This record gives sequence, structure tokens and C-alpha cells, in this order.
Amino acid sequence: MIKEKEISLIIEKVVQLLNNEQQTLKKQKLLGVFDDMNIAIETAYCSSKVIKKLTITKREDIINKIKELTLKEASIMAEMCVNETGMGNVNDKTLKHKYISHKAPGTEILHLNTYYGDNGLALELMSPFGLIGAITPSTNPSETVICNTISMLASGNAVVFNPHPGARNTSNYAVDLVNRAAKLAGLDINIATSVLSPTFESSNILFKHNKINLLCCTGGPNVVKLVLSAGKKAVCAGAGNPPVIVDETANISEAGRDIILGASFDNNLPCIAEKEVFVLNKVADELISSMEQNGAYYITYNQMKHLENIVLTKNKIGNLIVSRNWVGKDAKLFLHELGIHNINNEVKCLIYDGKHTDLFVNTELMMPILPVVRVNNFDQAIEYALIAEDGNRHSAFIHSTNINNISRFAKMIDTTIFVKNAPSYTGIGIEGEGFCTFTIAGTTGEGLTSAKTFSRKRRCFINDTLKNI
Ligand code: NAD
Repeated sequence: MIKEKEISLIIEKVVQLLNNEQQTLKKQKLLGVFDDMNIAIETAYCSSKVIKKLTITKREDIINKIKELTLKEASIMAEMCVNETGMGNVNDKTLKHKYISHKAPGTEILHLNTYYGDNGLALELMSPFGLIGAITPSTNPSETVICNTISMLASGNAVVFNPHPGARNTSNYAVDLVNRAAKLAGLDINIATSVLSPTFESSNILFKHNKINLLCCTGGPNVVKLVLSAGKKAVCAGAGNPPVIVDETANISEAGRDIILGASFDNNLPCIAEKEVFVLNKVADELISSMEQNGAYYITYNQMKHLENIVLTKNKIGNLIVSRNWVGKDAKLFLHELGIHNINNEVKCLIYDGKHTDLFVNTELMMPILPVVRVNNFDQAIEYALIAEDGNRHSAFIHSTNINNISRFAKMIDTTIFVKNAPSYTGIGIEGEGFCTFTIAGTTGEGLTSAKTFSRKRRCFINDTLKNI
């Protein structure tokens, strides 16, 4: 029998060991993460000089190592993010990291344009900007760091991040990961840097620093406005509020399934996820029934109003904002709030019969509550979808087999991503075609970002050379 005193001694010892371990972890320096933004910038500036001279093969070696580590540590980053931010879910976040390792584009996307004629040969070269400053969101904190670094490195740049303060540990883990990858590939410099405790002050230093040649911003409207007024070239990936239209020609059972798959992915955090549905009256009941069979829970208008009072709050100057306490939360928590506890494990998303003027229709909620608005005809669906999308030119979706309806909506909504008859995430390459990225620069027009986005185009003309050979 162990005596009481011995038990206390064992507990004391275990506590001491845990404390020591925590201290060691605290002391363990994350590669590329600094206390001071100016040091982070100076360090990355030195790296940019080295990176510029790297061969394409070396850049690819590093990118391959980044992808290997991303695959290996996908679930670590997914769990870390959910623990730190309290948003999203581990399975979908893990999948997002896996897609980066499979489908984020490297140097292969950089094509050389040539012009050949009687006067000789002109080449369009893709050159680095040098040092890039990047802002990352709390919704994809490690995904954005990894994807941005791969694209920026592929085009020969170094990068300094100012991560979202609410997700800084996850973002900084990713900064460490990309630098570990560089080291494994034999390059002992920080290809990306960041600050341990990012603040608005540190982002201001980043915006104004004369060694930063380009800014890249992935975030909401306020920070995009700030970056655009910084006086530098900027690539801005801003907010969306993607509508989805379902017309009477769609395969309704597949539409219901796909919409719930997209709208519940990572608890509706992605900027590309379906945020409101406009469905033709004739097929609305059938669509709702299909959604219910695929993990949707139908709530009444009054229940929606109860949630509206909770998830939308007012800021200091009286503007309505989305409560961070509810962004990216699990669907079941909203049902608990409504006093509904006996819930099927399959519930992934709440739906309700909405009006096109509802705040939930016209606000980017980023939570699994999906308004379904019945419309009289296709014209009305487009009219309401345009209002909800609000000129973000971000993403939009349609379920239809009528080619005229599909083309008309695509032309009028004019979004960067347009998907027909599939879940929203196919638009960024997840179970779809095309490469994968988590920075969709709809605001400034570069679209889905890759190494091409972070390259300066230069023309080199060679007079009278290789003529008529
Ligand atoms: P957020 O706008 O709250 O934060 C984004 C970043 O901006 C963070 O790093 C934050 O610290 C910084 N920031 C915010 N206000 C600032 C200020 N006044 N000064 C300096 N820095 C400031 O965004 P979030 O909640 O983390 O992310 C969600 C938003 O980002 C949504 O609107 C979503 O649509 C958008 N988003 C867009 C894309 C895209 O590719 N287009 C991708 C992901 C997220």
C-alpha cells in the first residue's frame, strides 16, 4: 500500500516535471518568430537577398519539404487551431492542410511568355518583389501562412507575417514549420518571419516599412481598407457572403446534399462557404427536405430571431457586428442555446425559411446557420443574390441544368469563384479541379493566388537574335 505522504510526493514530482516541460516549451524558440517586428523585417530582408539567388530546383526542394511537413503535421495544426481559436472543426481543418500538401502550386505555375518577330525576341520574365508583408486571418491561420509562403518562395520572395492575434500560436507554428522545411532542404535561413505577439502596432510597422515592397492581406473589410491605404502595392483577399441559387431544373436531392456539405465545412468559417440560399418556390420544400436528410436542422423564424439577438451585437460606435463568441461554432451549440438538447449526432447546420431582407441573409456570419429564401422566379433569385453578395465579387454558386440560367447568373454576379452543381469548396480545388489556395484576391482582382501573383513582370528584348533560324 502506498502511504498518503508518498502519494503527495509523487504528485509533487509530476507537477514539477510538467512545469519543467512547460518552461522548456516556452524557451523553445520557434524558427523565424521574433519579439520585435523590426527585427522580423530585417531578418526576412536578409533572407530575401539569399532567396532571390536560389535556383528553381532549390526552391522546389524547399517547397516539397514544406508539403511533406504539412501533411505530417496536418492534424497537429488543426487541433492547435481549434483549441486556440475555438472555431471550426479538426477533421475539416486537417483536410485543408492535406490539400495544401497535394495541390498548392509551386514554381511550375510560372510560365515564360515570349514574343517573336522580325525584330528579334522579347521575353516576359517573372521576377521577385523582394520582401512581402502579409496579414493572415483567424479563420485559416496556418493554411494561409503555408500557402502564402509556398507561393511567395516559388517566385523568389521572403515574407514577414503579422498573424491574427487570436490565432498567433497556430500561425507561428506554421512559420516555424516552413523554416524547419527550409533547414531540412539545406537552407539555414528564415524564409518567413513573424512576431510572437502581433498587435495593430506591429501591423502598422509592417504596412509602413520601406523594406517591404508588397503587402498581401487575407482578412475582413477593415484591415483590407487599411492595407489599401498604406501607399504600397497590395494584393487583398477580402470578405465574401456567397449566395447559392437553386432553380427548378436542378437535381434537388444532390443540391441539398452539396449545399449542406459546403455550408457546414469547417463550421462555415471559409470565406467561400455557402452563406444564403435562394430557391425557386416550386422546389423549395423538396430542397429543404433533402437538406434535412443531409445533416440540416430546421428551425422556425422565431428561433432564428432569438439567435439573431445573440450572435449579432453592437460595437462601441453602435454598428452591428458578428459576435466572435459564435463565429465558427458547432451547429449543436446554437441548438443548445435554443433549449434543444436531444440532437442527432449528424446535425451539421441549421436552416430556416428566411426573407431576403434578413440580417442573417445580408451579413457574413461564418457560422453554420443557413437562411433559405423562397423566390417566385429566377430574376428575383438573381436580384436578391446580388444584394446579398454586396459587390464583394468573391464567390457564388448555382444548382441548375439550365445553361441559360447558369450563364446569366455567372455574368451578373461576376464573382472570382463560381461553382455549378457542387459544394463551394470545390472552387478552391478541394474535391474539385485547379490548384488549392486560401488567399482569394477578389478585392484587388488577382483571383486565386499563386507564385504568379507575387511576381513582377519584366520584359527583356533581344534585338536581331535567333531571327529566321
Ligand atoms: P479580421 O479582419 O478580423 O482579421 C484579419 C487580419 O487583420 C488579422 O491578422 C487581424 O489582426 C488584422 N486586423 C484586423 N483589424 C486590424 C486593424 N485595425 N489594424 C491592423 N490589423 C488588423 O478577419 P478574421 O475574422 O480573422 O477572418 C475572417 C475575414 O477574412 C472574413 O471577412 C473572411 O471573408 C475574410 N477572409 C477572406 C479570405 C479570402 O481569401 N478572400 C480568406 C480568409 C478570410
